[in-house]
Amino acid sequence: MKKVIYPGTFDPVTNGHIDIIKRASELFDEVIVTVAKNPSKTCLFSLEERIQMLEESLKDFTRIKIDSFDGLVVDHAKQLGAVGIIRGLRAISDFEYEFQMALMNRKLSDGLTTIFLMPHEKYTYLNSTIIRNLAQFNSDVSDFVPPPVAKKLKEKFNQQ
Ligand code: ADP
Repeated sequence: MKKVIYPGTFDPVTNGHIDIIKRASELFDEVIVTVAKNPSKTCLFSLEERIQMLEESLKDFTRIKIDSFDGLVVDHAKQLGAVGIIRGLRAISDFEYEFQMALMNRKLSDGLTTIFLMPHEKYTYLNSTIIRNLAQFNSDVSDFVPPPVAKKLKEKFNQQ
């Protein structure tokens, strides 16, 4: 049974993340989507809200689990018995940081392989920051996020 973890902030989860999760679930027996409890960035949504949006968005998926982590991704991956870490690569701008992280994680734990997946081209320009900014100004984000996330963003910004 080959398990992988997909770590991230998911503030909030977008269709780009969902695309990566779907691709990973077609390759591995189990994908554990693991949400950073204390990310370096300040979040719009609490940990509980970020987890709840993932749960609602992924309710029809099989072979997916959702949990959270604090500390090093490699330690969490080892604890769960994962063989790899899934990361999404959108553009060259992602590459340098992801490359450094992957090599550092391999140094920390030789048995763990980072696997990069590319989303469908239509999601390559998408990130959670853009979604938060659009939603704040009442722009329609329903093409870019799952329905439960669009709803939650409206509630967050007190929109109809
Ligand atoms: P962000 O980078 O948007 O703040 P996360 O920290 O939650 O999002 O990202 C978790 C992982 O998902 C990272 O590997 C990131 O590159 C990837 N990712 C984020 N958005 C997309 C997208 N639109 N398409 C593919 N991968 C993505």
